[in-house]
Amino acid sequence: SDHTLEYPASPDAMDWSSYYPGFVDEDHQPEDATQAPPRLTKDVEIVDIGCGFGGLLVALAPLMPEKLMLGLEIRTSVTKFVQDRIWALREQNAAARLYQNAACLRANSMKFLPNFFKKGQLSKIFICFPDPHFKARKHKARIVSTTLNSEYAFALRPGGVVYTITDVEALHQWMVHHFDAHPSFERVPEEEEREDECVRVMMSETEEGKKVERNKGQKFVALFRRLEDPPW
Ligand code: SAM
Repeated sequence: SDHTLEYPASPDAMDWSSYYPGFVDEDHQPEDATQAPPRLTKDVEIVDIGCGFGGLLVALAPLMPEKLMLGLEIRTSVTKFVQDRIWALREQNAAARLYQNAACLRANSMKFLPNFFKKGQLSKIFICFPDPHFKARKHKARIVSTTLNSEYAFALRPGGVVYTITDVEALHQWMVHHFDAHPSFERVPEEEEREDECVRVMMSETEEGKKVERNKGQKFVALFRRLEDPPW
């Protein structure tokens, strides 16, 4: 459970160097290494919430080799699996320096997001095939809700996008309802959705997406753009 989870007191306190060793900024390190963690040349910008076995990360990483992406996963063994998978890919692709930009961390994304990411740090958040929690009394366990959407809005920069996909139509409607109702988001039009390469990856490269494909199930996609905050 959560009491074994480790998370930083604030985003500045987070040491990312072991997750992205290829992006450690060798030229600009803190003067006092006891006071601050090693710096990277860039910040994590793409997050996959509940990344499962890492299919999305592994497909996206070589498409955007200069963007740091992070999978958050609550299950210890699954997190370890994804970390091992990425390390193996890094080794196999060492000459091309691929997969240095992907990593997976064990976290409960419902609780500690603001500990990891500063306001406006992220450009994309993926929520792929989240657990449906069908029963009404379990709805509070859903990772899309009014409260959590405010956390996603905090971490996303204006213009940033939340990507959602599910095979459960009622959950799709729930996610659309909660993002539509949130003042910080607007739905991305379908024409734009179709042209977005990340949508294709989300539909075909996630483990759940493949399973739904095999079972000839339906996939419901919805994207939401982070709006500018209104002037005070
Ligand atoms: N996104 C992957 C895919 O599309 O193949 C996995 C989908 S799987 C149905 C949902 C995943 O979310 C599981 O691996 C589960 O352990 C993880 N998860 C559920 N609640 C979570 C939470 N609060 N924080 C992080 N991960 C969570």
